[in-house]
Amino acid sequence: YQAKQRGIAVSLFHLDQAKVLERRVMIEKELHEGMETEQVYLEYQPKIDLLSGQIEGVEALARWNHPELGMVSPAEFVTIAEQSAQIHRLGRRVLDLACRQLMQWRGEGINLSMAVNLSAQELQNEQLPDYIASLLSRYQIGPRQLEIELTETAIMGNVDRSIALLERIRALGIRVAVDDFGTGYSSFSYLNQLPIASIKIDRTFVSQLGRTTSQRGDAETIIRAIVGLAHNLDLQVVAEGVETPLQQSYLQRLRCDQGQGYLFCRPTSAGEVTRLIREQGSLLAQEAG
Ligand code: C2E
Ligand code: MG
Ligand code: MG
Ligand code: MG
Repeated sequence: YQAKQRGIAVSLFHLDQAKVLERRVMIEKELHEGMETEQVYLEYQPKIDLLSGQIEGVEALARWNHPELGMVSPAEFVTIAEQSAQIHRLGRRVLDLACRQLMQWRGEGINLSMAVNLSAQELQNEQLPDYIASLLSRYQIGPRQLEIELTETAIMGNVDRSIALLERIRALGIRVAVDDFGTGYSSFSYLNQLPIASIKIDRTFVSQLGRTTSQRGDAETIIRAIVGLAHNLDLQVVAEGVETPLQQSYLQRLRCDQGQGYLFCRPTSAGEVTRLIREQGSLLAQEAG
């Protein structure tokens, strides 16, 4: 009886595994077509100035609407792209779409900065700075309008090569941000050695701010330390994943420069960003205090 039960469990397990594998193979195989068509596109999430509530820039986030699978999250397809060497094509596609959108916004009289996320492997690609430079000239975009986001883990994977490549990107006039700060190596010691302009505090710290647990004090202390250090190094600080007015008011008190999160705006279409900018209203929550 036991053996039979185990047999069923084992075959269910295999069925599960087979489904997971099947989906993976499908994504890996069809991502190429997705990238060549409108299936893969960008959404834009505003970065808000925490004093004025105005939109100062946006982050481009890749989206894939698969004809059968529906929306596939970037956590899934970016990871598969990284493992199947398609990440370079995806990165080029995202950069191209982002720059094209910047050009369109400029035509509409809107001057925004746009941040693009890059993966670790892209940071090892010696051709990347030239590719970015070619986009800037093709779309007639000023380098200050483009920003690159990289996680600590991506940078520290091969720190000397990463710094060399980031120096070349910075030499173009493009700013670099450390994404998800505090989750990787989280060492303050290398921050002053990186050619970066800002850091983005990971949302795990931000989400603890509104909570009445003993952890709240820790998150507050950590954020205060990060902001203090960053400002001493002339770096801007962005808080990720701001979801409540209470978190907003903590971050304002802690002197964070910018915030990003569902409280202000979810990732959305370019048209919606245009509309929000034309309205010129503050996206800050009013009842915070
Ligand atoms: P990330 O760069 O740290 O982006 C922030 C993620 O948090 C986004 O998820 C965003 O939708 C989500 N988010 C924003 N505000 C909130 C909030 O208030 N609460 C919560 N819970 N989440 C919030 P998304 O779009 O699913 O992207 C996930 C990750 O996938 C990104 O993390 C980034 O690492 C990666 N990614 C997205 N697009 C690209 C891309 O074009 N290239 C590469 N290499 N990676 C990308
Ligand atoms: Mg990011
Ligand atoms: Mg992030
Ligand atoms: Mg993140």
